[in-house]
Amino acid sequence: MTDKRDPATILSSARPDADPALGGLTPPLWASDTFRWPSAEDKPAYDYGRTVNPNRDMLVDVLAELEGAAGGALTASGQAAALLALLLVPASAHVVAPHDCYGGTYRLIRGLEDQGRLSATFVDMTDLDAVAAALARETALVWIETPSNPLMRITDIAAVAALAKPAGALVIADNTLPTPLRQTPLALGCDLVLHSTTKAINGHSDLFGGALLAKDAALVEQLHWWANAAGLNAGARDAWETLRGARTLALRIDRQEANASAIARWLAARPEVEIVHYPGLADHPHHALAARQQGGPGFMLSFRVKGSAARFLDALALITLASSLGGHSSLICTPATMTHRGMPPEAQAEAGIAPDLLRLSVGIEAADDLIADLARGLAAI
Ligand SMILES: *Cc1c(COP(=O)(O)O)cnc(C)c1O
Repeated sequence: MTDKRDPATILSSARPDADPALGGLTPPLWASDTFRWPSAEDKPAYDYGRTVNPNRDMLVDVLAELEGAAGGALTASGQAAALLALLLVPASAHVVAPHDCYGGTYRLIRGLEDQGRLSATFVDMTDLDAVAAALARETALVWIETPSNPLMRITDIAAVAALAKPAGALVIADNTLPTPLRQTPLALGCDLVLHSTTKAINGHSDLFGGALLAKDAALVEQLHWWANAAGLNAGARDAWETLRGARTLALRIDRQEANASAIARWLAARPEVEIVHYPGLADHPHHALAARQQGGPGFMLSFRVKGSAARFLDALALITLASSLGGHSSLICTPATMTHRGMPPEAQAEAGIAPDLLRLSVGIEAADDLIADLARGLAAI
């Protein structure tokens, strides 16, 4: 392998060589579903688009270099990547997952459990004793998501992986929130890393995609086999557009994170605000771990106001009430009724998701304009 390259350079300079016919600066879109064989005995590198496609491969190569992976699969959504990971789990095997994981992950694991396909234990991953207790049962897969969404709790990836490995479990990290620019879980002992590329990696709120990358080549083989067998691979156009969006990921993340830091500090100083969850704040319970494990505190935060969350939301004029994250524009939501709807109220309560918790994904707008909008909200509560 060559020296570790800077992520901004990797993203910006990906495959200017990919158009030998005309010398275009960016890769062409290979939309063809099928490819010509030189002869019936000679299988070409690319034969059928569900199985292999050059646009997917280019984006996988970029993401794999950023994450330090051997390779992986690009799927039609983040959830398709989660399903692909769960297809590696043998029938009725045990899976350990965070009790405050992404609502869609919770729904998928629970749904498979309800059908008897696996058994799941949901634990507080910030409590290593609870993780160790769950691992007393033979376990096939340990699912990590850090920072957690929406409470921004930080799981110690290296510590959980160190518990899971001797127990013989594969370890996966959902790295959607930090992006590979702020956290590289494979370097901390994980086997697999998952992204919803729908979010910051594409960054333009205009398509769905997912990625599942593996540290070892043997596991990459399995991912390719299952992604093809189950038809989970992404479309060529989405892969092509996602690489286009990802070119500016480093710029966007720097800006979004700077905005989020300014907003978190501003909210924390306001008397109308009950609590702010942001790993960059010194009073965050896992501030030191976040500073050690992540390259930065990220663009997501959550908070509660001392008053009506509904009136707060009504008064906003710039920040949009919508349930995605990581894109160019700032979005706010109430996880209890929106992103975490798939989690029953008891499970929400156990995960610490209060009904009036507000989650903010900070975009690339001017920080002053965002703060003025939040001030409008606070004036209305
Ligand atoms: C959005 C998201 C997913 C699911 O991704 P989709 O592309 O919407 O299927 C998984 N994990 C996290 C952390 C997410 O934010």
